[in-house]
Amino acid sequence: MAALNPQRSQRLRQLPPYLFAEVDRMKRAALARGVDLINLGVGDPDRPTPREIVEALKVAAAKPEHHQYPSYVGMLSFRQAVARWYLERFGVELDAEREVLSLIGSKEGIGHITLAFVNPGDVVLCPDPGYPVYPAATIFAGGAPVSMPLRAERGFLPDFDAIAPADARRATMMYLNYPNNPTAACADAAFFRRAIDFARRHSIIICHDAAYSEIFYDEQPPLSFLQIEGAREVGVEFHSLSKTFNMTGWRIGFALGHAEVLAGLGAVKTNLDSGIFQAVQEAGIAALHANARLAPRVRAIYQGRRDLFVAGLKKLGYEVNLPMATFYVWVKTPAGCGSTAFTARLLQEAGIVTTPGVGLGQAGEGYIRMTLTVEEPRLEEALERLRKVQV
Ligand SMILES: *Cc1c(COP(=O)(O)O)cnc(C)c1O
Repeated sequence: MAALNPQRSQRLRQLPPYLFAEVDRMKRAALARGVDLINLGVGDPDRPTPREIVEALKVAAAKPEHHQYPSYVGMLSFRQAVARWYLERFGVELDAEREVLSLIGSKEGIGHITLAFVNPGDVVLCPDPGYPVYPAATIFAGGAPVSMPLRAERGFLPDFDAIAPADARRATMMYLNYPNNPTAACADAAFFRRAIDFARRHSIIICHDAAYSEIFYDEQPPLSFLQIEGAREVGVEFHSLSKTFNMTGWRIGFALGHAEVLAGLGAVKTNLDSGIFQAVQEAGIAALHANARLAPRVRAIYQGRRDLFVAGLKKLGYEVNLPMATFYVWVKTPAGCGSTAFTARLLQEAGIVTTPGVGLGQAGEGYIRMTLTVEEPRLEEALERLRKVQV
């Protein structure tokens, strides 16, 4: 019998090359040698989910009415809790039935929305550097990702005037992400107005990823895209409970905004998944109700880490901006050192795992990303080790 020789599909083979193989190999080798690695590479909160959210899940999990298939669009009570939270936080009223869609984590919706609106050959504008799901979702739908470089001199905001007219004509969607992973930049209202104007002129759907809207510092809450006049006519915004409430493992998020865009995404989902376990939605309601109490505690922890770590990096001579939001620190590599080479050096010489900027897009070359998802003593230890790395 002939052995099965599975040929991966075009869409899988078209994904950008995986650039971390060498770093992964070095990481495994270091672990095998027993090196005490400090992992500043992953964007996954280290603290546990607040106990009252876990307790809400326990109670809800015991209810037989949650043991069956959930509703596709999400329980109305969850979507109402979302609308209430959003009104309180951003001062914008949403129709819980038409303008809120529950997601199995925001990544799920960010990944599926291209299947609803992108045809083969269409362009999708993607921030570079950026969350790798944007170009991957584009390729899975047969579209062509076109990168919008985020550069320090423009505050890591894309320049819409630099988009080639042919790309703008073929574009059906654009991803934006503020507060931004990986650069930690925030967007102001003027930027969002430019984005809305560009989207209107070219009939582009804006998908704004706001996963970090609640991880902010110095009591300066970032804007929501949907607060800006005209935003709801051109786009949707993705939100997540993952980062705000240390719930990355729970898989719960939501999309807000343009009702027909949400309905299109919902139509894709109806054919591929069956919604979120309702007990998890009940826990999500508990989280949103307790937001005013829980979110400030999460922010205070990251703010302490940010202040300690960024000051330490600056003292060592690194070029880095103080993040106003997110738990990322976007650090310029020393002159003449590429981001992959620098990541390798930090791993070899200091046992510190970081992410090379170029792994998140060509325009990320010259930077590395570090996360604030380890406790302060470990960040102090990381700074101590960095002191010994010659730059
Ligand atoms: C973490 C993250 C998400 C959220 O992922 P979930 O699927 O909601 O856990 C979305 N976008 C970006 C840029 C992220 O970093």
